[in-house]
Amino acid sequence: MKQSHLFTKTKKEAPKDEVSRNAQLLIRAGYVYKVMAGVYAYTPLGLRVLEKIKAIVREEMNAIGGQELIMTNLQRKDTWEVTGRWSDEVVDVWFKTKLQDGVELGLAWSHEEAIMEMMQQYVESYKDLPISVYQFQTKLRNELRAKSGIMRGREFVMKDMYSLHATEEDMNQYYDQVIEAYKRIYARFGIGDETFVTFASGGAFTKFSHEFQTICSAGEDVLYVNADKSVAVNEEVLDDATNELHVDKSTLSPVTTAEVGNIFKFGTEKSDKMNVVFKDKEGKQQPIYLASYGIGITRVMGVIVEKFADEAGLVWPESVAPFRVHLLSLGTDEKANEIYEALTGAGIEVLYDDRETPAGAKFAESDLLGLPYRIVIGKRSLESGKAEVKKRTDKEATEVAFEELVAFFKP
Ligand code: ATP
Ligand code: MG
Repeated sequence: MKQSHLFTKTKKEAPKDEVSRNAQLLIRAGYVYKVMAGVYAYTPLGLRVLEKIKAIVREEMNAIGGQELIMTNLQRKDTWEVTGRWSDEVVDVWFKTKLQDGVELGLAWSHEEAIMEMMQQYVESYKDLPISVYQFQTKLRNELRAKSGIMRGREFVMKDMYSLHATEEDMNQYYDQVIEAYKRIYARFGIGDETFVTFASGGAFTKFSHEFQTICSAGEDVLYVNADKSVAVNEEVLDDATNELHVDKSTLSPVTTAEVGNIFKFGTEKSDKMNVVFKDKEGKQQPIYLASYGIGITRVMGVIVEKFADEAGLVWPESVAPFRVHLLSLGTDEKANEIYEALTGAGIEVLYDDRETPAGAKFAESDLLGLPYRIVIGKRSLESGKAEVKKRTDKEATEVAFEELVAFFKP
């Protein structure tokens, strides 16, 4: 993409009311546009990052048999009344609205009840199970505080998966498979080493749920982890979990983290309340087992920003970068055009700074945008026949001959 076509512009300053570092950088670099606290629009650059994140999640969900669908944002009141979760005392983040005739509706903050209600229509017998479905959806939550930029939105994108099973064993076995898929996902985002499967508060069916928590100073959670990082416990359940695991509390130390995923076994809690059943081999009606699995897509983007950004700006891991290469023409358009065509023709994603901007400004903007590689075509390059190639994370550039550039970037 040519940068001259990009409608967004970088800014020297972030809006004064923006306190979070991830949002400050993303706004300055033109990846997000702030509408109000906790509500951000994603511009073409930001959307490309979200789509990269989603593509990784989609691949891993498909690999464990997930079927993608999309549920609705408008939800009926009675869907949630059956389980008691329409109540604002029970769920304190509801946005609610009304139809013209006064009928109350909820704006989706989650979809467990909605999925179970729908599945009632499709599941008849044990032969129809297991089923695993997932979606990428905009969730709306009336969060009390929204000061963490895109890490806590009032409107945000979540991947939520739901699996339905005939037996507890089958649910447990699938749940373990999802844990492995999640580990692969966070590894592919480049945050695998610092993301822990954590014991967290459970519900009616299980004492604990599992959170995926990433070390991040901008996070809102505190974990207790042991030295080899094999045990991680959310401080909310520290006493309970250490008792259960027979772990000495004093061997764990606190670390600030952000919750990037949460998986949860509902068991038959929802189906008991909602009467969602299937016929077993003997023709007897049995409740369906349910587990649900969330990943905060937009929060992950914020966490990646927080973890990798430096003084000069954003730093994207290659797996989620909006473009792999930032090509800068320093008054060398003819050659740079040629290289742009060659690289994009070879399937390499290039953002091409073809604007008439002073070199210093181009370099600073390039650092702010944070693409993994920068190629500079300067006057000197025209003489030497070589481009200057630099990784965003390196200090020094290397020289690569024009005719070798495609091979250099070709995977
Ligand atoms: P939190 O404790 O941070 O409020 P939660 O436990 O309410 O999150 P879940 O219902 O488990 O969130 O949602 C699944 C995932 O969606 C979370 O693990 C998190 O990554 C993400 N998420 C939750 N709330 C938000 C939000 N307000 N903005 C962005 N991402 C969110
Ligand atoms: Mg959670």
